Amino acid sequence: MDSETLQEAYVPGVETLNSKHFFDRLAEEIHPTNVEKGFWGPPELMDKYVAKLCLIHSEVSEVMEALRKSQGTDKVTEEFADILIRLFDLYGELVEVGEADPGLYGIMYDKMEANASRPPKHGNRWG
Ligand SMILES: [Mg+2]
Repeated sequence: MDSETLQEAYVPGVETLNSKHFFDRLAEEIHPTNVEKGFWGPPELMDKYVAKLCLIHSEVSEVMEALRKSQGTDKVTEEFADILIRLFDLYGELVEVGEADPGLYGIMYDKMEANASRPPKHGNRWG
């Protein structure tokens, strides 16, 4: 469907699909409500942790892109290294501030043993 057809199919009486004004009005309605509900206070430390988690996720996406674009085995491995660096950095910080327990290796080993006795796909449809 081209953009003209999309505009014609859009709700009559409302600005066109490409209208910035319509989306600005939505933002003006939604954002103050979320401010009032406390979603936008001063930055908290947890916001920084969430940003770090997003950066780990971005490295995961970089592995996917390296595979998708056939960027080579060295690039794929490099992106895995980036994941682990960011992961252990965040884990170290969370242990330091008491948000995570030390002993990650033991917990991971226990989980690996438990996973070995689980059914195929751990009983799920896919994954
Ligand atoms: Mg990377």
